[in-house]
Amino acid sequence: MGKMIYLDNAATTRTAPEVVQAMLPYFTEYYGNPSSVYDFAAKGKEAITTAREQIANVLGAKKEEIYFTAGGSESDNWALKATFEAYKAKGNHIITTKIEHHAILHTCEYLEKERGAKITYLDVDENGIVKLEDLEKAITPETILISVMFANNEIGSIQPIREIGMIAKEHGILFHTDAVQAFGQVPIKVDELGIDMLSSSAHKINGPKGIGFLYIRKGIKNRSFVHGGAQERKRRAGTENVPGIVGYGVAAERAERTMEERTAKEIEIRDYMIRRITDEIPYVKVNGDLKRRLPNNINVSFQFIEGESLLLMLDNYGICASSGSACTSGSLDPSHVLLAIGLPHEIAHGSLRMTLSEEITKEDADFTVDKLKEIVQNLRSMSPLYEDFMKKQK
Ligand SMILES: *Cc1c(COP(=O)(O)O)cnc(C)c1O
Repeated sequence: MGKMIYLDNAATTRTAPEVVQAMLPYFTEYYGNPSSVYDFAAKGKEAITTAREQIANVLGAKKEEIYFTAGGSESDNWALKATFEAYKAKGNHIITTKIEHHAILHTCEYLEKERGAKITYLDVDENGIVKLEDLEKAITPETILISVMFANNEIGSIQPIREIGMIAKEHGILFHTDAVQAFGQVPIKVDELGIDMLSSSAHKINGPKGIGFLYIRKGIKNRSFVHGGAQERKRRAGTENVPGIVGYGVAAERAERTMEERTAKEIEIRDYMIRRITDEIPYVKVNGDLKRRLPNNINVSFQFIEGESLLLMLDNYGICASSGSACTSGSLDPSHVLLAIGLPHEIAHGSLRMTLSEEITKEDADFTVDKLKEIVQNLRSMSPLYEDFMKKQK
């Protein structure tokens, strides 16, 4: 078997060697607590400032607007919970979508059940894109926050963020976006797009796991999320994850520096694989928008196939992919995202997500599609449903 082909970069990515190199001294040499007064601790403090600047530069933000967290989930929780608490005197209504990550959806459910929030979950069209008319119609005088993800982690569709930002601004409503899949993959400038808050996570862009940030535009009321020490401008207490923060800064700078070349390469392989799959395998559907799409996302549904069986058989060839989102695999419910774009249960069950990195070559792509063809054919030959269907075709 030999080589592994890793096609699950939406779940997590390899930490880039230059990121690891940059982090190492902050474990063993400059391990001082950044809050301490002696000179030895200053190294850590300076490194945090540098990382904050590196990230702020990518977003066109100010470094004081970047708050480090333990990852995307925490950033999403913070954005929703703290905004709700700070603005609930103004209103209790939040608008989000049916295709958000569970870090948003489950937080919304909590706010709804336990804190008296009213949540509108917007539908999306068959390509997984929010309809702006629906958003406008959902706004009430009670609406305090719109939270729409930048790009979807399952089907890769990219939302009309600028238009959503404009609508939010017109109505004086805050706009948060979960950009965990988009940051470092597509250009994002918070001012141009009218974004007030943005969540991101390092491990999705070749940084380390367990470190993220929330961008909060200056002037927005936002309570302390973790109470304790004065770290992160008194909003998120706890001794800073200095190596993680350093790694994140380098990963962000690297993602920006390599974006054009890397994503061009990914788009070429992505479209090549999609073309081969749709040309060579019958009864297949591509999910998500073909144009407004993350450079590295492929999501396809094969009729008469169980996604889980497909994954196991791909794994036999060293190919790592995903059937839904990593968080829901293990459960038998089809993905909420695939249901939201209108796929019937049985089609949604036969779905496969492959998310590329710059390391994936044309040879890897060919090997994967060749194996996929074989496996799909094999699985179908064992399926009574497929047999019935083929009989009816004759
Ligand atoms: C991965 C992911 C998250 C969660 O990020 P963690 O750092 O793993 O907590 C949130 N939203 C989206 C869209 C993601 O893809």
